[in-house]
Amino acid sequence: MIKPGGTIGILGGGQLGRMMAISAAQLGYHCITYAPERDSVAAEVCSDFFCNKWDDRAALAAFAQQCDVITWEFENVPVAPLKPIEDQIFPHPRALETAQDRLNEKRFVEKLGGTPAAFATIDSHADLMTAVDRIGAPGILKTRRDGYDGKGQWRIDSSRDAEGLRLPDTATIYEGFVEFFAEFSVILVRGHDGEVRFWDSAENVHEGGILDTSTLPASDRIQEQVEPARKLAASVAQALNYVGVLTCEFFATHEGPTFNEMAPRVHNSGHWSIEGAATSQFENHIRAIVGLPLGDTATVAPRIAMRNIIGKDAKTAQDMLAEPNMHLHLYGKKQARDGRKMGHATKLHRGEIST
Ligand code: AMP
Repeated sequence: MIKPGGTIGILGGGQLGRMMAISAAQLGYHCITYAPERDSVAAEVCSDFFCNKWDDRAALAAFAQQCDVITWEFENVPVAPLKPIEDQIFPHPRALETAQDRLNEKRFVEKLGGTPAAFATIDSHADLMTAVDRIGAPGILKTRRDGYDGKGQWRIDSSRDAEGLRLPDTATIYEGFVEFFAEFSVILVRGHDGEVRFWDSAENVHEGGILDTSTLPASDRIQEQVEPARKLAASVAQALNYVGVLTCEFFATHEGPTFNEMAPRVHNSGHWSIEGAATSQFENHIRAIVGLPLGDTATVAPRIAMRNIIGKDAKTAQDMLAEPNMHLHLYGKKQARDGRKMGHATKLHRGEIST
């Protein structure tokens, strides 16, 4: 167990690191950030900042020397340069390796008995035509690596669409379009001793590939699918000998939960847990990696709604505080670009659930 006053290193400089560091400070730890970009909203709340490239092994070694334990908040941290310091990193970087490539991720989940959307590896235009023929259209062509928030994705509605599409310069997969009636995620925390706790699953609504709202309780037709989804998420965590918070996203379909993707980290759809759960995803992630007992994940209000604040909406976000039981989190980003996550707000409805 790492004693209070110990130092936690965070790889990545975004809002997830910022919220982790705030929780870590509450438990008496110091955090330091490592990120290549100078502008870091995590570094703002950390005691030191290594602004270095991901492949700068000397800088990573110097960073690691200052840390009792290291974690990440960004899932595209390159894995190879982490090798010399991997014993200090929780979760183990094998989780990054699995999640960074959509093809590996889907094969891994299939082996564990999960059901992803029908998919095919695309190395050439001919592969794409065969895949559209076999899997059908609509479908989505996705880059295998570096995609997030719907980036690196192209919707294909017909073979003709596929014919006209210029393949990107990077490895891709084609995924059949899933006819889902809702989306949800399973967020769990796993401790060093293998104990697993789940938060309630929120119902997630995306706008243009970006999470817009997460609402609890999820509708009954989602709740029915949570158990098998949890089972799969727990086997993912166990297979990776995972320590920390892990998220698996699912499509709720008439055939049951279809696995979409995993995020080996705290997740936007769990931000509601800061005020809405007895212990937030951020605090439990810190507890898990430093070896403290995990906290209770129970939901503390009958209805909770988290909304992301995207782009220019940040300008008027403070107005929301006029509403009772509204909790505003602004990430301190200087530029409110379109599609950029600037903050989020969580409303706890204290009264009875209205239908
Ligand atoms: P992703 O970055 O892969 O999670 O995609 C972002 C969002 O795009 C998802 O949350 C879905 O709303 C939508 N999406 C992605 N893949 C599919 C699919 N195979 N079928 C239907 N919708 C999808």
